[in-house]
Amino acid sequence: MRGISREVLARDAAWSLADGNCKDLTVEWARWEATYSASPTAAARQAALTEPAAVCAACPIVAECSDLAELSGYTGIAAGQGYRNGRPDNARQRQPRQRKTA
Ligand code: SF4
Repeated sequence: MRGISREVLARDAAWSLADGNCKDLTVEWARWEATYSASPTAAARQAALTEPAAVCAACPIVAECSDLAELSGYTGIAAGQGYRNGRPDNARQRQPRQRKTA
């Protein structure tokens, strides 16, 4: 049996994205991702997902989108959730940076 590489899977998933509900929302998506990325708390990140998650909820290719986000190491919003380096961003805890003192 021939193995299927991650690249082939990602390419197949990428072809499907042309059918996604976000295909005409490039500007909005960039704004939503910027807001998500700048959100300092889990509650703020969850709030930032509200609008894009509503778009994804009605999308016919959510599974393919999720696969591509994971296979490509995506950071941003895909398939209705946040990703960081291809992993769902749910468990990420942001800690305020400690200032070094002398
Ligand atoms: S699941 Fe969401 S991010 Fe993925 S293609 Fe569909 S609308 Fe776009």
